[in-house]
Amino acid sequence: MIQSSDQPLLRVRGLCKHFPIYSKGLLRRQVGTVRAVDDVDFDLMPGQTLGLVGESGSGKTTCARTILRALAPTAGEILFRDGDRTVDLARLGSRELRPLRTKMQMIFQDPFSSLNPRMTVGDIVSEPLVIHGLASGREKVRRVEEILEKVGLRPEHRVRYPHAFSGGQRQRIGIARALIMRPSLVIADEAVSALDVSVQAQVINLLEDIQDEFKLTYIFVAHDLSVVRHICDNVAVMYAGRLVELASTQQIFEDPQHPYTRALIAAVPMPDPDVRMRDTLAGEAADPAKLPSGCAFHPRCPECFEPCDRHRPELLSIEGKRLVACHLHDPAHRDKAGTSEAVAGNRAGGD
Ligand code: SF4
Repeated sequence: MIQSSDQPLLRVRGLCKHFPIYSKGLLRRQVGTVRAVDDVDFDLMPGQTLGLVGESGSGKTTCARTILRALAPTAGEILFRDGDRTVDLARLGSRELRPLRTKMQMIFQDPFSSLNPRMTVGDIVSEPLVIHGLASGREKVRRVEEILEKVGLRPEHRVRYPHAFSGGQRQRIGIARALIMRPSLVIADEAVSALDVSVQAQVINLLEDIQDEFKLTYIFVAHDLSVVRHICDNVAVMYAGRLVELASTQQIFEDPQHPYTRALIAAVPMPDPDVRMRDTLAGEAADPAKLPSGCAFHPRCPECFEPCDRHRPELLSIEGKRLVACHLHDPAHRDKAGTSEAVAGNRAGGD
């Protein structure tokens, strides 16, 4: 990890991405809203890696794509540090965003479908340079060959096509394409999920190795918590579009405070075959188009108590720097925990 300066590279405040649901027919009326990302706040310091985790449908990928302005935010601020100035990406139009796009790149999940099979590796990797008019001719070739070597490929690979490479090598090509613009922020969206476990380790080691050299700050979107544990400094846990816990990786894994975080960690497979997987999450993930009242996790929460189905918990600071959105940690409610019939009922049902 490189040294962090005092200023965050990225500051996200009140970020929302909502999708309207329209009725069928000629008179298309809005009949609902999918709250895919709802009121998300976090800071990301330069050189750090933030894991964004949650089940499928938790909003983590939509949040990442909104930060990169692949999706327009519904509300909120995306304050990105660009040299000496800070710009709110949420307010910029496409023309103003264009030069900033070189500084924020994405590594995609599927190295098999994210590379155009009709383009050579050289053309794929140099495409961002060409689009932004940053290099051509010999200089373009030099930069492609240099970046291929940095990601563990050979310069002569630039004339080959993606089908000639293994899954791990294709992901290296995707990483080279992201790095050739010398970005400061890289979002890796499930970047190793489609790879074999042995290849996953190689790609994660590569991402760690290049982080110092390229002064990269990562957001690592993943559902696999064992991967997150290895690479991330901090972890943000999302449920139904909202952050429910944000803490250092060590705190998240050794002392999780939100019942959802505890359930996610309990569901991580153990490498020891004699150790059975502990209780996994019961019930379906909340539908962001029809969120339950109060805490969106309450229908699945084994620790649900009296205020949980009526009041939505706010993200509160506990023990200094960590943040948790759960009434168990809210001084206004926590005294009632363990006394309500709801807790007794939930626990009995879970046994
Ligand atoms: Fe469970 Fe209540 Fe905390 Fe939600 S607020 S996670 S329902 S204890």
